[in-house]
Amino acid sequence: MLLNAVSARLDEKSFAAVHLAGSRYGLPVADVDPTEVPGYRPLDNDRALRALYLPQEGFLDARRWLATLDAALDALPQVTRSTEGRLSATARGYSLHRTEGVYAAPAVVVAVGAWTTSVLHSLDPDVSVLPVLSVEGTAFTAGAPASLPAVLRTPNRAYACGLHTVPQADGSWYVGASAAPALVPGSAPTAGGLRFLLDSALGQLHRGLATAPVQQLRHGNRPIGLDGHPLLGPTVRPGLWVATGTHRDGLHASPLIAQELAGALLHDQPARWLTPWRPDRAPISDWNIEDAAGEAADHHHALTAESRMRPPLTGSWPQALEYAYGRRMREVYAAMPEGYVLPPDLAPARLRAPRRNRRHGTRLPGPPAGTRRRNQGNRSHGRPLRERDLVTVRQAWLVLAGQALDPRRSTPVTLTASTELEGHGQRTGVGAGRLADLCRRHGIRRSMGRVGSSYDCQSFRTGSRKDRVAPAEAV
Ligand SMILES: Cc1cc2nc3c(=O)[nH]c(=O)nc-3n(C[C@H](O)[C@H](O)[C@H](O)COP(=O)(O)OP(=O)(O)OC[C@H]3O[C@@H](n4cnc5c(N)ncnc54)[C@H](O)[C@@H]3O)c2cc1C
Repeated sequence: MLLNAVSARLDEKSFAAVHLAGSRYGLPVADVDPTEVPGYRPLDNDRALRALYLPQEGFLDARRWLATLDAALDALPQVTRSTEGRLSATARGYSLHRTEGVYAAPAVVVAVGAWTTSVLHSLDPDVSVLPVLSVEGTAFTAGAPASLPAVLRTPNRAYACGLHTVPQADGSWYVGASAAPALVPGSAPTAGGLRFLLDSALGQLHRGLATAPVQQLRHGNRPIGLDGHPLLGPTVRPGLWVATGTHRDGLHASPLIAQELAGALLHDQPARWLTPWRPDRAPISDWNIEDAAGEAADHHHALTAESRMRPPLTGSWPQALEYAYGRRMREVYAAMPEGYVLPPDLAPARLRAPRRNRRHGTRLPGPPAGTRRRNQGNRSHGRPLRERDLVTVRQAWLVLAGQALDPRRSTPVTLTASTELEGHGQRTGVGAGRLADLCRRHGIRRSMGRVGSSYDCQSFRTGSRKDRVAPAEAV
């Protein structure tokens, strides 16, 4: 693990945390001279002055591993593998319709990653499950500029898993990875994201990558629960299970997840590992707003440093910028609905609202089909949330709020999203009707808001706004 200065002080904290964790869990962590790290040849400007060697840290070639899993599944006689089909709920359970026939079962595990929310919604629009977002990631594989006996990596940084290279079974180097939160999965890397990754890898890992043949570009959607945690286990809907949301840890957590799910599903064994991650749980809040905004600002600062942004050195620009990131993140958090704090990983989300014509408030046509690109914010190109981004965060929040307000839950949650609904109802398609519907379905009897900006329970019926009444408090 390399500690270089192409980042911010966040790296030092993470580096120290790795040291501490090693000694706490009795795992060897050795300080080594970066000039002696095999396969490491950065640009002088980007070189590390400290490095750690973790001899027990494992790594694998994910392509090899997936091919092995494929072979194992193909060899199992009771397994039928299907590329596509239509899942529907029946009186007795679930059916998967395929061209060659229909498969019926009393239970189904929906494990479709970042596509989970849309698949569940089409199966049952009323199903109450925490929304799953995507954190898009780009990586590439290139011919090896040198032989590499182990992984080279920086600490986690700038909202992402850090810059790293993993030696592959055929000797090539896997280099990753960007991280771009999005409400819906994307399909391709962006040029900007790729440029950043290449620039970082060529400078910070091995300058010989400049002439290495690129073998493959990779793009994936890391699924993440809106509270930053996985969704694993049964839902309240009988027989409907979900397994996803593992964000950056799905590969290495998968053996345990598979074992626990199989035990619970097939042998009715209580799975203590799964319990905290019930898909229909109330969102887990790990953060208070101040800490989350502070952490997000630190990552943001690290991101600008890694992008080589240099402040003017007149006056107090460096401090002013750091202050500005903090302030911006506090604004972002302050603009979010109350009751739950979004994890800082998702704070910079470049979550794009439908394109609108500002003047007329009408929807603009998107780019031609096939040319659509996700608006990716990655380690290099994350930008602060804009107002229109928040609209989509709020959309996700509303889904979440609807679930959190499920009357079967005992935790009281206050929905204060009505201001946003009034302000952006037309633009987002989440209007008073939707709020009313949400409230009805989830037993909400109370709304709050400012004069002229909110709907109360009476207006659910009449569609009128609280234009002329005192601030709504209790309904
Ligand atoms: C660049 C990158 C690097 C990563 N590095 C690591 C790492 O080092 N270690 C680690 O542990 N994890 C890593 N991860 C994370 C890991 O890949 C995820 O946590 C894991 O893949 C999530 O598993 P999943 O089954 O929930 O979703 P996925 O792996 O995304 O699988 C979902 C599958 O469902 C399919 N699907 C979607 N819709 C439908 C539908 N309607 N019908 C049928 N199928 C459908 C999709 O095509 C996909 O194949 C990385 C991810 C990325 C993107």
